[in-house]
Amino acid sequence: MRSVFVLNTGSSSVKYRVVDVETAEVAATGVIDRIGEPGSEARDHRSAIAQILNRFAGLRIDAVGHRIVHGGERFVTATVIDDEVERGIEALAPLAPLHNPPGLLGIRAARAALPELAQVAVFDTAFHAALPEAARRYAIDTELADRHGIRRYGFHGTSYRIVSERAAAFLDRPLGELRMIVLHLGNGASAAAIAGGRSIDTSMGMTPLEGLVMGTRSGDIDPAVLLYLQRNAGLDTDQLDVLLNRHSGILGLSGHIDMRGLTDAIDAGEESARRALDIYLHRLRHYIGAYAAVLGGLDALVFTAGVGENSREVRSGAVEGLEFLGLRIDETANAERSGVARRISASDAPVAILVVPTDEELQIARETAAVLAAR
Ligand code: ADP
Repeated sequence: MRSVFVLNTGSSSVKYRVVDVETAEVAATGVIDRIGEPGSEARDHRSAIAQILNRFAGLRIDAVGHRIVHGGERFVTATVIDDEVERGIEALAPLAPLHNPPGLLGIRAARAALPELAQVAVFDTAFHAALPEAARRYAIDTELADRHGIRRYGFHGTSYRIVSERAAAFLDRPLGELRMIVLHLGNGASAAAIAGGRSIDTSMGMTPLEGLVMGTRSGDIDPAVLLYLQRNAGLDTDQLDVLLNRHSGILGLSGHIDMRGLTDAIDAGEESARRALDIYLHRLRHYIGAYAAVLGGLDALVFTAGVGENSREVRSGAVEGLEFLGLRIDETANAERSGVARRISASDAPVAILVVPTDEELQIARETAAVLAAR
């Protein structure tokens, strides 16, 4: 069990990697996107996966690992897929209508194409499955919440797992004794408070909409705003869904599609872009302060994912004014670029600030191999 074919299937794209779990060596990697659109390589997910398999016809594959966003209450660890598990993932579609159905298409296509191989689902929610009840529950009617599975699940768990382990290894300290805040800042973005390797709070909730300001998602908002817009602006449920998930965040505030566009616009002197970044950073600092309190102290603050690994401005702005928490950045170290874990805090600062690259595909491959080895 060494070579795992990792599939990350989105609504119109399939990202894949073939990776050796022992050496982390990548034998093949790529993406097929715009599935079903005119001119795309693939008319549907099944043909996309058939083409991917054609691309590495000669390669050895021992197992398939699938990224599945929402595991609900049932899937709290990586799980070997059979018909019953497939139905269980399907049953979670209402909780994650944007994310789980494509993952299921990937599972079906891969099981049809590779029936002889074991396939494993690795869930973004699993790392947060044991969130303490006080962090997990929303303050609404308990019975209603339980009946509908309404609670905070949290996401980006695969990333938090590998990044927290890498951070501990970098610091050369046992993960079990560290209190850290990890900021996973990509197009989607979330924060997690991790004590001794366990998630004790996280900013995304029942869905990946809650929490930080993201590329196109609002993050935290007073729920009464939705009621107000329904009553007074005539927006219906679907329109609110599109507004909050696709037309908000950095895009809604500035018209720029992502962080790189936003920082370029700021350099060009665009006022609304500056304001959008200020709102983004204000929310980040708000969560850093909150999670320092939740953890009862802090050993490390860790930046990861596209924005966290690449944006010096965001890292610097996120800790501005937080010296009282022990967070002091070394701007020379912060300005350096490298693809490996590194420390960017001042050498005499009490809390380590780290930049740690994430690698969700490698982690999915490792968990796939681990669950099959334990079988
Ligand atoms: P996803 O959530 O899609 O996995 P990524 O982790 O790849 O996203 O992060 C994508 C984000 O990273 C985008 O907002 C992109 O603009 C941002 N990004 C990448 N490189 C830079 C950079 N050099 N400066 C600022 N933002 C960057």
